Amino acid sequence: MSASAARPLAAPATRPLRVAVVGGGWAGLSAAVEAASLGHQVTLTEMAPTLGGRARRLPLQADGLALDNGQHILIGAYRATLALLKTVGVDERQVLRRLPLSLTDVSGRGLSLPPGPALPAFVRGVLAARGWSLRERLALLRAASGWLLRGFRCDPRLTVAALTAPLPAAVRRALIEPLCVAALNTPASQASARVFLRVLRDALFAGPGASDLLLPRVDLGALWPDAAATWLRAHGARLHAGRRVGALERDGGAWRVDGETVDRVVLACSAIEATRLVGPHNAAWAACAGDLRYEPIVTVLLRAPGIRLPAPMLALDASDATPAQYVFDLGQLRDTVREPAAAGTLAFVISGAADCIARGLDATAEAVRVQAVTQLGTLLPQAPQLLRVLCEKRATFLCTPGLQRPGGAPAPGLLAAGDYIDGPYPATLEGAVRSGLAAARAL
Ligand SMILES: Cc1cc2nc3c(=O)[nH]c(=O)nc-3n(C[C@H](O)[C@H](O)[C@H](O)COP(=O)(O)OP(=O)(O)OC[C@H]3O[C@@H](n4cnc5c(N)ncnc54)[C@H](O)[C@@H]3O)c2cc1C
Repeated sequence: MSASAARPLAAPATRPLRVAVVGGGWAGLSAAVEAASLGHQVTLTEMAPTLGGRARRLPLQADGLALDNGQHILIGAYRATLALLKTVGVDERQVLRRLPLSLTDVSGRGLSLPPGPALPAFVRGVLAARGWSLRERLALLRAASGWLLRGFRCDPRLTVAALTAPLPAAVRRALIEPLCVAALNTPASQASARVFLRVLRDALFAGPGASDLLLPRVDLGALWPDAAATWLRAHGARLHAGRRVGALERDGGAWRVDGETVDRVVLACSAIEATRLVGPHNAAWAACAGDLRYEPIVTVLLRAPGIRLPAPMLALDASDATPAQYVFDLGQLRDTVREPAAAGTLAFVISGAADCIARGLDATAEAVRVQAVTQLGTLLPQAPQLLRVLCEKRATFLCTPGLQRPGGAPAPGLLAAGDYIDGPYPATLEGAVRSGLAAARAL
């Protein structure tokens, strides 16, 4: 991976600005890369010892296997993210495995899209889907045509459960509910139908490749943040990790960040920290950011030596007793020569995991172990062992109907970036990256 720029730097800004970026997650790194590309003098400060925020490599390994804070997936529609990978010299093919969208279970039941233009691919995929009757498949096509005809817009007060209530139960259970909780990290009964439709539009009904799954072949640090940091240093930016920004003060037309004067600030920290830092400067903005509610994501890693799933990612039958919605075979994703322990390691993802937190992580891990035995059955050469349970209690904001999200400009010269900033997407890497780019362009 080279640290050199894949695209030439933009012409320098008329007067380079001193820009402080607070937070080194994907939003902060995107803002920093874009601001440096525009010729500004960037200083990025991250509270944690590592960059990447909620999509980061943990400072732990399991038998040489680098662990992340949680399994992530990207999709082909993440155009801004993919472009930034290129900017910092990361070759998408080295770090992501691109596969046509497949949300099928271990016996091949579910939706799988053939390659080709989006609309015909969706129709062919639905008609060929196994596990649903013809009536159920036609009902899904009818509902999707209605969404398409209405431009993927709906009453902003609707939940996904209300929007999809006319669909047959089998389609809701096998497709809509797991897709909704995976995309919005919010159960269908509480999730915003408007945001869900926007995701469907951009993922399933956009240009070729938009619906492709992009599964990380490397740990989340190697996916982008490491290369972004190298690129930033090579372009004159200063990076400070392990330093929490404590105070933000106005200084005439400029700002002081922990006493250091800068022309502009991009706050790309968590909404909770942004609430504290912005509070003295814009109480209404801070109140809006402070009102967000959160939903956890739990990832359970199991060791099952000798296993090979029929695909790197499979859908599972999720219920209260069997909580994981998807499983990933790290042996098919990571380079097993460099990380031999990836072979036989499965990552089970539980989005919308509030109930799991209430139940306790030990009980959740055991429920997933039993789920693996019952749902992966004969594929398991031996009983799986628990490797690790990873829990992010505030994984993403709860994406409910009519949710008010704060805007990207809380005060003059003070920009805000992050997946929670008002925009069309739920909390995703692409949402974070787009907000970072928008903040840098507004400098
Ligand atoms: C387990 C899990 C699974 C997920 N799965 C997916 C997925 O499959 N696909 C997808 O697209 N998205 C997924 N997401 C969501 C995605 O990770 C987030 O949307 C994205 O990482 C948010 O980036 P961000 O930069 O907006 O915020 P953050 O990553 O939270 O970055 C904010 C940074 O600011 C730092 N910070 C906070 N306060 C201060 C301060 N005072 N001074 C300095 N630094 C500070 C924090 O340490 C943090 O690094 C998942 C999230 C989790 C947790």
